Amino acid sequence: MPKRRTYLFIVGGVMSGVGKGVASASLGALLQCRGQRVTAVKIDPYINVDAGTMNPVEHGEVFVTYDGDETDQDIGNYERFLDVDIGKVNYMTTGRVYLSVIERERALGYGGKTVEVVPHVPLEVIGRIREAAERADADVTIVEIGGTVGEYQNVLFLEAARMLRQQQPADVLIGLVSYLPIPSAIGEMKSKPTQFAVRAINAVGLQPDFIIGRSSKPIDQPRKEKLAAHCGVLPEDVISAPDAASIYDVPLWFEQEGLGDRVIKKLRLKAKPLHKEKWEGLVLKRKKAVQPVKIGIVGKYVSTGDFVLSDAYLSVLEAVKHAAWAIERDPQITWINAEELEKPGVRLTAVLGEVEGILVPGGFGTRGVEGKMKAIRYAREKKIPYLGLCYGLQLATVEFARNVLGLRDAHTTEIDPGTKHPVIHLMNEQEERMKNAAYGGTMRLGSYPCLLAKGSKARALYGADEIRERHRHRYECNPAYRAALEERGLIASGLSPDGTLVEVIELADHPFFLAAQFHPEYLSRPFRPHPLFLGFLKAAATNR
Ligand code: GLN
Repeated sequence: MPKRRTYLFIVGGVMSGVGKGVASASLGALLQCRGQRVTAVKIDPYINVDAGTMNPVEHGEVFVTYDGDETDQDIGNYERFLDVDIGKVNYMTTGRVYLSVIERERALGYGGKTVEVVPHVPLEVIGRIREAAERADADVTIVEIGGTVGEYQNVLFLEAARMLRQQQPADVLIGLVSYLPIPSAIGEMKSKPTQFAVRAINAVGLQPDFIIGRSSKPIDQPRKEKLAAHCGVLPEDVISAPDAASIYDVPLWFEQEGLGDRVIKKLRLKAKPLHKEKWEGLVLKRKKAVQPVKIGIVGKYVSTGDFVLSDAYLSVLEAVKHAAWAIERDPQITWINAEELEKPGVRLTAVLGEVEGILVPGGFGTRGVEGKMKAIRYAREKKIPYLGLCYGLQLATVEFARNVLGLRDAHTTEIDPGTKHPVIHLMNEQEERMKNAAYGGTMRLGSYPCLLAKGSKARALYGADEIRERHRHRYECNPAYRAALEERGLIASGLSPDGTLVEVIELADHPFFLAAQFHPEYLSRPFRPHPLFLGFLKAAATNR
């Protein structure tokens, strides 16, 4: 008999941005603690086929999977919480779903039938969800539907949930993550918006099985009962989810609220003994980390209007936290807008004087590039630990070529296509794509092997001579300059197996100056900090 697959849809009510992703991931973690095999699917309702073409300030980080998909940051949350690799099949957008339906129709895949929005689009969605479940051999597949109920955009995905529930009534649950405001003038937690959200779900033929109520404070018993009465759930199925000090506290909060057992019971899953020790250990570790370590992250996607956002660098931030907690330090991050460093008369010591480590994450385009290079030069000359990620490697190379090799007009051709010294240039196969404006999904994406040089810092940190890391870039180090750079001390310590592509660079004569062409932040886990981040944080913590 084929294995039973169950599905848990998570939908949002009232407003977005209240942590549906973390709630989904935390619930998955609790089920794992009970011996269930879990995977998670993210559905984004926009037309973009993937997240790769979207501005990170608007959409947040682009998370790259091992198999080269450019996805939503929630996939990163799933990987970090569930500690499993999540691939392309687990991510879909409206655009991606429609594209495959239309392509199948063009290939006569519907055998002459009229292809209709309903049922063919929801059926495509269900097919993808089932495939994700099969590939992961999952007992439970968590499916997070982006946006909020009542929006026009996600109706077809809710219809998919309804149809799947109709096909397998005993195997599908619906969880609503909703927001309960406490308006300051009223001073009371209000449940009405959530009641309306439930009405909106009811209108598409669904009834939530439980409600996770996000708020700044815990939900008290009277309000649990009120919500239960108005929303058609039991009081014990109203889960209180107040703002947490750390996202990694959420699984144990849910556990305390009894959510794990409720879901097991509702899905009639075979309960195995509960093992939540690893989450308890993580919470303890974070609480023990009180001594600060100060890290400056120099980027350009850090603010919009009057608000500072860190979502564009979510995995980087998480990777710093994981590594800091591992050495019992409390990471204190200063977000530095690279453009600020470019302003005339800016004193670098005033901005960077306090930080113990400088990190330049990935990026694209001209804005802030000179500021980033100023920060890199400062780190190199003042011997402050430096970690460069992708663009952070390319710009470290340009900075070194300019200021150490004396190639004044060295640049990346991404910014200056006519530079006399293209130390960073476009990979061959990329030239053609750029000419044809084929931008979507055409970067060097996903997991690639890399060989680490004997005696290098990179090899010592990884404790391995061959590694695999995830990439997302078009440009590369130009081999024509490698010998000159190495002669002056900028070593290519990681190379592609054929020796052509530079994947890691480092300075020997520096406490810690290392940069990667790949994105190590995607592989960092709370239970397994990434070796490069660990090395960087250790260096920062002991630097002064
Ligand atoms: N813009 C650079 C490139 O395309 C770096 C990309 C990145 O930092 N992810 O190669």
